Amino acid sequence: MVIVFRSDASEADVQTVIERVTEMGLKPHISKGETRTIIGCIGDEDRLRDLALVTMAGVETVMPVEKPYKLACREFAAGPTVIPLGEGSVGNGEFAVIAGPCSVEGREMLLETGLAVKQAGAVALRGGAFKPRTSPYSFRGLGLQALELLAEARGRTGLPVVTEVMDTRHVGLVSRYADVLQVGARNMQNFSLLSEVGESEKPVLLKRGMAATIEDFLLAAEYVLSCGNRRVILCERGIRTFERATRNTLDIGAIPVLKAETHLPVIVDPSHAAGRRDLVLPLALAAVAAGADGLMVEVHPDPDRARSDGDQSLSLDNFSALMGDVTALRETVILRRRAALIA
Ligand code: PEP
Ligand code: MN
Repeated sequence: MVIVFRSDASEADVQTVIERVTEMGLKPHISKGETRTIIGCIGDEDRLRDLALVTMAGVETVMPVEKPYKLACREFAAGPTVIPLGEGSVGNGEFAVIAGPCSVEGREMLLETGLAVKQAGAVALRGGAFKPRTSPYSFRGLGLQALELLAEARGRTGLPVVTEVMDTRHVGLVSRYADVLQVGARNMQNFSLLSEVGESEKPVLLKRGMAATIEDFLLAAEYVLSCGNRRVILCERGIRTFERATRNTLDIGAIPVLKAETHLPVIVDPSHAAGRRDLVLPLALAAVAAGADGLMVEVHPDPDRARSDGDQSLSLDNFSALMGDVTALRETVILRRRAALIA
């Protein structure tokens, strides 16, 4: 249930409602927007029926939330969730691009990539330290050494770093080095891991599972939110279908659907969707046009020699060209659309 306050409601009005809701055994989640405050209540809503909340001072309306995901749904927040990322932010209407190698392979390549993607306009550097690989014989990442290199790259580039955590036992370790914890597609329904990152102080970048519906995806985000971590970035990275021409099928429709369903920022990973370098740019542009809040792109100084996902990694030059096209498309389509809305 969501309690919406009038724009002239006082702090005392809000506090009184919070106390009453808490007394009834429900958990209030306060969200303050630019003009109004709302309180989402989690728990047995029947207990609120006799409270006549609508008649309480400052309250404008009380709405039931039928969706199974409560904290993630749009109605539960007074405005979009904005997550600061270094000098940029994701979810605030700007376009945030996270870029870097699939795996951290060494110091040189990480620093070279970090400096290049920063120069091209990325707001964060990605790089896998613990890699989920289909085959146990593939390169599985440099682990702790990669985390140390990521921290060094942050120092040298000023970019926050994003890296995957695969195991509940590693959440503490990875959190000591990373600025954002990535939960990969293969772990989207690892509920122990979701709860563990939900206890963390670090923002979580949650990738959509290969066979997850949008509802499954939002319920996975709900796990993290329900553990107290309200900073979740959703990442559409393609789902598995019968199609084999691309590595995964990028679900472009998921972007506007998610933007309508949730207040959380939605970014797109065209690299894992495409599986092929030549398709990364068109998929990235499609994501921009569909209203995504940002991208996550794999970039490597020498893609043909990459130890993982070289086929889908962009060279530094190709990434810089992609950034130019993304900016040009945003300026023409998105900003014009916004101007028309204001007019
Ligand atoms: C990755 O980002 O390198 C990765 C493994 O992605 P996903 O979990 O989407 O496959
Ligand atoms: Mn990869």
